[in-house]
Amino acid sequence: MKIVFSLLFAMFANLATAQSNKSNNTKPKLVIGIVIDQMRWDNVNRYRSFFKSKNGFLKLADEGASCNYNLIPYVHTVTACGHAAIYTGSVPAIHGIVGNSWFNNLTGKTEYCVEDKSVSSIGSGNQLSGKMSPKNLWTSTIGDELKLSNNFQSKVIGISLKDRGAILPAGHAANAAYWYDGETGNMISSTYYQQNLPKWATNFNNLHKVDSFYKQGWTLSLPKQVYEKNCDTDDNAYETGFYEEKVKVNFPFDLTKLIGKDYKRLFAIPQGNNLITDFAKEAIQNEQLGADSITDLLTLSFSTPDYIGHNFGPYSWESLDGYVKLDEVLADFFAYLDKKIGKDNYTLFLTADHAIAPIPGFAKKNKLPADYYVSADISKDLTNLLAANNLTKELISNVYESTIYFNHKLMDSLNISDAFLTQLISKFLESKPNVLQVVNNRNAALAPLPQLIREMLLNGYTPQRSGDLTVLLKSGVIDGYPTGASHGVFYNYDSHIPLYFYGKGIKKGNVNSMNYMTDIAPTISTLLGIQMPSGSIGKPILEVLK
Ligand SMILES: [Zn+2]
Repeated sequence: MKIVFSLLFAMFANLATAQSNKSNNTKPKLVIGIVIDQMRWDNVNRYRSFFKSKNGFLKLADEGASCNYNLIPYVHTVTACGHAAIYTGSVPAIHGIVGNSWFNNLTGKTEYCVEDKSVSSIGSGNQLSGKMSPKNLWTSTIGDELKLSNNFQSKVIGISLKDRGAILPAGHAANAAYWYDGETGNMISSTYYQQNLPKWATNFNNLHKVDSFYKQGWTLSLPKQVYEKNCDTDDNAYETGFYEEKVKVNFPFDLTKLIGKDYKRLFAIPQGNNLITDFAKEAIQNEQLGADSITDLLTLSFSTPDYIGHNFGPYSWESLDGYVKLDEVLADFFAYLDKKIGKDNYTLFLTADHAIAPIPGFAKKNKLPADYYVSADISKDLTNLLAANNLTKELISNVYESTIYFNHKLMDSLNISDAFLTQLISKFLESKPNVLQVVNNRNAALAPLPQLIREMLLNGYTPQRSGDLTVLLKSGVIDGYPTGASHGVFYNYDSHIPLYFYGKGIKKGNVNSMNYMTDIAPTISTLLGIQMPSGSIGKPILEVLK
């Protein structure tokens, strides 16, 4: 009897091991999420013939699954909302990240999306840049669910130049998030994750790579004629340009004078991308990401395309050159992954947090509708409107990213109704040539707009952190600067973003049905056989899964 029992036990044990091996074999050892900050869907098509190899973007586009109609389902189409939506599968109405910053209606204070006064910086002399954590994010992420699925054995690490591009993707239960400190030129983190920077990260900082990047400067990767033929002119007054000692808008950029003085400029030059993959390789090596059968998650965000796009616009020499250089960085990183993790051991997706509109000056030059109507001007116009109606300007507590926040306390004490103020402001602003219409956010479901746009407004609204009115600007009109490009609205130039899946478990091919940014997390959850993040409203894109 005892022998039979032992035999049975052994059989079951073998079966269990075999099954766990089988299930492990179907899962990648490492999932890598890549977010290109401000990448437009059409960039790969526009720049395809200029890439130096087929091993970067084109490896994903041609050998992976390419979702060609992937849209952002909410406003505002900005960095923090994008990173949160990709990794939670949710929208600002549910995950709470309604902007890069917002005015908190309960406290009456402006808050930054990842600020956290209760934690401290590690790895830098600059205390402020490390006081960051994901505490303002209300729902779980892919990384959180991955960790919950196996008693927190998976490792999850987020890396980006921008703090929000590292912290929000990595999620609440992450082992670490690392971002770049423009004051010191170091990769830093906060005590939310760990008490000290790991030795490998300190060693990396000791190399102070930013100095050698500045020494290289920024010169063209391709012959000058390529840019002349395929881009806008290089030297334009409507570009914000690059600040050295004075504004400079054309090639080449000599950056040697920044060494020892200004480390913030790394955000806005292509070498910022090299810093990210150099640091990521150290993280993979030293934290042993993808080294065993328990799936790990590495989230990378490349922030420099956003700064380059804001400064020079999406049709500039700098944009083309930035993408050609980023393509080389990606090709090198993908080759590293093949070698280090193994070709069939990882799954990767690449998408964007938002895209970008043309610079209004460039658009106007080419007879396209465009203009600026910045929040600061809306604010001034409203002050005048209120004064003309014998009302105090204090009735408006904030105007931010075309969103107007009412001062409800004051309105109550003066007996001014929401409907009255909404009507007064809407009538006034809707007479302006750049305004499409003004929507009261609580009543967005009733706005006379296509259902798709109404849904984007509703998906972006939460009472604690959102404004009362959204000023919808006409196509091409941006809430930006006196020069340069911007993003944040519902139009396709901001909301149509690339999405590629590649690697283990992914079926090659084009997906031409409409998908949303919120479908990424459920797709990865399905691939990994884990629960969807708590607030996810997306659906898995089954066409990309084997
Ligand atoms: Zn931006």
